[in-house]
Amino acid sequence: MKIIMLGAPGAGKGTQAKRIADKYSIPHISTGDIFRANIKNGTELGKKAKTYMDQGLLVPDELVVDLVVDRFKEADCANGYVLDGFPRTIPQAEALDTALTAIGESVDYAVNVEVPDSNIVARMSGRRACLNCGATYHLEHIPTKVEGICDVCGSEIVLREDDKPETVLNRLKVYHDQTQPLIDYYTKKGILKEVDGTKDMAEVFDAIIAILEK
Ligand code: ADP
Ligand code: ADP
Ligand code: ZN
Repeated sequence: MKIIMLGAPGAGKGTQAKRIADKYSIPHISTGDIFRANIKNGTELGKKAKTYMDQGLLVPDELVVDLVVDRFKEADCANGYVLDGFPRTIPQAEALDTALTAIGESVDYAVNVEVPDSNIVARMSGRRACLNCGATYHLEHIPTKVEGICDVCGSEIVLREDDKPETVLNRLKVYHDQTQPLIDYYTKKGILKEVDGTKDMAEVFDAIIAILEK
């Protein structure tokens, strides 16, 4: 099963993608996580990506596409995967289609997690991330067991630099300009599915599973 998660920054794509990946034992591929790991390890790619990410801009397509295409050729992707944060532009979506068509495959579902802009800034200012293992929490909605400490790995959790309100507004604008057109793109392909992302985490998950198992 090959699934794409669509939605604004903070809509809950990552939260749901992890749960889908667990349920179906398929990898969760998050381009944001891949970039953050590169930044942490001080790679050339990380240095380049950081200059864009800090401003809330997209990393250029040519730095993203090969990364993802190489990733899904790995053995653990044989039964599918959940793509979270990719594609984010029409050229990325076209490159994905070309790469999949070349190996006789295609995406099964593009799940759009719908959350209005008015909810997003609050979601993002409450988001806390573990930069060590990638786990994500929310101060009010999805708190850690011990305040400030990741449940999974025990590291300190932080407000991501790009989750500060001024950067979030930039990211929302970038989302509407460059990523939202993908909703049309996948609607035309007949694989777009919508879920209401304002519901609580478990309800959103149930709605997604109902779609995947119909
Ligand atoms: P969120 O989960 O809040 O939407 P991500 O972790 O997916 O954020 O992405 C963080 C940042 O990484 C983005 O703002 C962008 O700068 C960069 N990024 C991630 N994925 C892509 C992509 N597919 N194309 C371009 N830039 C990306
Ligand atoms: P995205 O990957 O789309 O940027 P995340 O999955 O990181 O979004 O979620 C953004 C923030 O909102 C996180 O702090 C997360 O814990 C929280 N969150 C996710 N889903 C929900 C939900 N259904 N209701 C309330 N908060 C949520
Ligand atoms: Zn952690």
